[in-house]
Amino acid sequence: MKRVARTLTATFTLGWALLLAAADMDYGLAPEQIAPDTWVLTGRSEDFSTKNGGNIVNTAFVVTSAGVLVIDSGPSRAYGEQLRRAIARVTDKPVVMVVDTHHHPDHFLGNQAFPKETLAALPGTIHGIHTEGGNLNENMYRLTGDWMAGTEPVAPARQLAAGPLQLGDHRFELLALDGHTEADLAVLDRQTGVLFAGDLVFNNRAPTTPHARLDAWNAALAKLEALPFTRLVPGHGPVSTDGAPIRQTRAWLAWLDETLRQSAEEGLDMTEVLALPLPAGFRRLAVSEAEYRRSVGQLYPAYEQRALARDGKTAR
Ligand SMILES: [Zn+2]
Repeated sequence: MKRVARTLTATFTLGWALLLAAADMDYGLAPEQIAPDTWVLTGRSEDFSTKNGGNIVNTAFVVTSAGVLVIDSGPSRAYGEQLRRAIARVTDKPVVMVVDTHHHPDHFLGNQAFPKETLAALPGTIHGIHTEGGNLNENMYRLTGDWMAGTEPVAPARQLAAGPLQLGDHRFELLALDGHTEADLAVLDRQTGVLFAGDLVFNNRAPTTPHARLDAWNAALAKLEALPFTRLVPGHGPVSTDGAPIRQTRAWLAWLDETLRQSAEEGLDMTEVLALPLPAGFRRLAVSEAEYRRSVGQLYPAYEQRALARDGKTAR
């Protein structure tokens, strides 16, 4: 009898601990309506941490007459599940499509929470999830801990292509771009004028560059800037009513490119480049010091190689 009581107590304690853990793992998602039929969930302008659980990303959804389009599924299975519940509080229409704008972990690791047949992305994004999803997922466990419980990478089966996409009463334009990664999807809703730019655009937060090619990124930004949007949803940072975040992202990338090019030509080593001061205008951006350091580590070796190759040619 004593043993049964002890087992019951243990079970109760364990159940209580799990409940508490589940309560702790609440992202507190609060969709904000930014246009007719259109909601955005704005993440924090921070690095990944055990405190924010990876909720540093913007996700969004559009309620069309044919069902709900979700743009990015968030950083974990728990986020995806909580996003589904947040959507269900707004509409009883089913989710009919979930698009991953690119293969960075905070944008697609919530896929698991949605029916497999609703998942869609550009072919390059699907490829990126297949080849790097496992590592990216492990890294998120390391950075954010328990929030990731049960999360596994799920790649969409449905391939998207550039062009119009009609979902019920909404006509979307899909833009197949690249530069932030090998495949960056932007979505323009022709009905509302809302442009979902994914991580091609950061707002008041320094851009991340682990898969970046700056020339292509710059060309993509020029295309986005020419679109007739009325609201701009960046991948990170607040929603905007104008193109200022596009210009801000472009300015950061141009400065980064020029700084790394010049440093390589002057023969600076990586430690010296890391020690360069950030211009005051960029220091204001969230996470700017950390992103600058990561970008130097990710991009500078290629600049050094180019400078060395050119010097080699000149010497010959
Ligand atoms: Zn990204």
